[in-house]
Formats: sequence, C-alpha cells, structure tokens
Amino acid sequence: MSSRSERACMLCGIVQPMKRFVDYGCPNCESLLHFQDNEEGQVQDCTSPSFEGLVALGQDNRNSWVARWLRIDSFNPGLYAVKVNGKLPPHIISDLEAQDVIYRPRDGSAED
Ligand SMILES: [Zn+2]
Repeated sequence: MSSRSERACMLCGIVQPMKRFVDYGCPNCESLLHFQDNEEGQVQDCTSPSFEGLVALGQDNRNSWVARWLRIDSFNPGLYAVKVNGKLPPHIISDLEAQDVIYRPRDGSAED
C-alpha cells in the first residue's frame, strides 16, 4: 500500500517519505534522534520501510483509545503505522536510555 520511499519512525511510528525525514527530521523524535544533524544513515537506521496499518492522528482523535493504545496521543498530527518492523540499533537505544527515554519496539514484540 505504500510506495518505497515511505518510511516509519521506529521510535514514534510516524510515516513520512524518506526525504522528509532527511530534510526535516521526525516531528516527534528530532530532539532525540537528530536526523537533521546526521548523515542519511541515521534515518536508514532509525526508520523502517516495512510497516503495517495506518492511523491518521488529528486534533479530534488524539484522546481516542486507538491513540492511547499506540502511545501516540502526545505526538504531532500525522499518519502513524500500527506496526513497524525492525528495531533501533543498540547504540541508539543506549543513547535514548541515557536521556531517560524507554524504547518500546513497535514491531509487536513489546509487552506491557
Ligand atoms: Zn519519530
């Protein structure tokens, strides 16, 4: 359903064209992942071309169960993948932990 250039952020699940991640970063995770300051490889490492299901998050459904279930209720409006295949590289996960961010893989392996 998606063209090859679309990728999903492995941290927040937002779906954007590759180029948008490279040029503008992730609207939710830029302060953590710094796509704009890094080589394109950072986007390759932290976003996935393989994702399933799309949910459009807007002002009106931010408090919906679906937004809470996907843990996107505090994120910016946009298109989010229900499932993102792939995991962040270990060095990125350690970086996040150093910033007190707990990474929950969105590939279906995380459990509450
Ligand atoms: Zn993100």
